[in-house]
Amino acid sequence: MENYKCKSVGIIGAGIQGVCIGLQLVKKGIPVTIFDRNDPLSFDFKPSSYGNAGHFSPYAVLQFNRPDILYDVPKMLFSSYGPLALKWNYVAKMIPWFLRYLKNCNKKSMLNTAKNMHQILNLSNDAYEEIFKEIDTSKLVEKKGIIYVWTNKNLKSRKLEIKIRNDLGIEQKLLTQKEILDLEPNLSPVFDAGVIYEKAMHAKDPHGILKAIFRLFLNKGGNYIQENIIRLKQINNNQTIIKSEDQEYSFEKTVIASGAFSKNLTDQLEENIPLDTERGYHVHFKDMESLISRPVIFLDRGFGMTPMNQGLRAVGTVELGGLKNPPSKKRLDYLIRCAKELLPQLKNHEDEWLGFRPTLPDFLPVIGPSLKNKNIIYAFGHHHLGWTLGAITGKIISGIVAEEKTNLDLSPYSSKRFN
Ligand SMILES: Cc1cc2nc3c(=O)[nH]c(=O)nc-3n(C[C@H](O)[C@H](O)[C@H](O)COP(=O)(O)OP(=O)(O)OC[C@H]3O[C@@H](n4cnc5c(N)ncnc54)[C@H](O)[C@@H]3O)c2cc1C
Repeated sequence: MENYKCKSVGIIGAGIQGVCIGLQLVKKGIPVTIFDRNDPLSFDFKPSSYGNAGHFSPYAVLQFNRPDILYDVPKMLFSSYGPLALKWNYVAKMIPWFLRYLKNCNKKSMLNTAKNMHQILNLSNDAYEEIFKEIDTSKLVEKKGIIYVWTNKNLKSRKLEIKIRNDLGIEQKLLTQKEILDLEPNLSPVFDAGVIYEKAMHAKDPHGILKAIFRLFLNKGGNYIQENIIRLKQINNNQTIIKSEDQEYSFEKTVIASGAFSKNLTDQLEENIPLDTERGYHVHFKDMESLISRPVIFLDRGFGMTPMNQGLRAVGTVELGGLKNPPSKKRLDYLIRCAKELLPQLKNHEDEWLGFRPTLPDFLPVIGPSLKNKNIIYAFGHHHLGWTLGAITGKIISGIVAEEKTNLDLSPYSSKRFN
């Protein structure tokens, strides 16, 4: 084992970023403590990394900053049966984020996001495969590809998106309605065509995978403390104090991996990073998971279904409404109606869940040192792809902590872009 100089690291957040970063650091022999207000091994642990759709999506280089979204947004916001919704009491707070987002809705920014997402997405599955060698994934991971379906009414930038993926060398196989129904015969034929990413995999239990990685971290000597962190204090360049309500902990380096809540901490460092959240929901249809063999996403509706150990998970939609608003019954109803449109066999649902995607207005994460202190390192803002990017973020951040050289160009993920 190499002898790294770093004496101690504190990580705030035990979501998928936090546990993967922790694991890579203990593997390097660096002493590390993860903090989270909820115990990752408990039933109360329900952050984004618990409730997501479970897609490992290395192909998903394109996000919502496409040029033609501007035509759709007003219609989507005012329709109660659309993939995008707004909590009106949050509009004023969301304006700075939204203005920056609008600036990014053009072809140039779309290609910039695609190129820089591709750089890390392309390494994402291999990074997980390395971890999977050390945990039993036989009941946790399935490799049957992921299908997206759509109607011809709503093609939008689809041709451009397919071309961009082709140009980046991403494998995608376009499918007719019949070919989709041959693969997933229980689906109702309410779509016209689609695509399958044959090499994609999915989690049958994202929380189960996170717990297995967390246990591996503990077994290798990692430390966990259940605390709600309220303050970060820089003593000097080589010492940060992490403060909870009644305790203080001192570390040489600190990693902020607190998902959509990271802004509470970065604001204290006087960096105005425009992180906000895209809220998303899930419900389960118990014992219905065998109706489909792999995740199916209905693009027109902005939702998908994933067969999981807990049941068939209907998951998705985007709601702009911040971290404090309660869940919206209307959004959950929308999700349930969408699921029943594709699978009319579905009946009662359970486990209503709201989660917070951490999203920057250019749909790139923030991965790298803070601007004020190179020993405070950021790992958040992975929006719709934070599950996919957990393992590779762990490798990148541990490399930054250990001051290793990298061939990756990490400049696109720096928080400098907002200053
Ligand atoms: C509906 C939905 C579907 C999704 N589907 C997919 C998908 O299929 N594929 C994909 O790649 N991604 C998906 N995502 C996105 C993905 O889930 C997230 O990007 C990812 O889980 C974020 O991980 P994280 O570790 O950054 O944050 P989180 O999972 O949110 O974890 C952050 C942790 O930090 C802790 N924390 C925060 N602040 C503090 C504090 N002050 N003190 C102590 N602890 C703190 C929280 O308790 C939490 O446990 C989806 C998200 C949603 C909402």
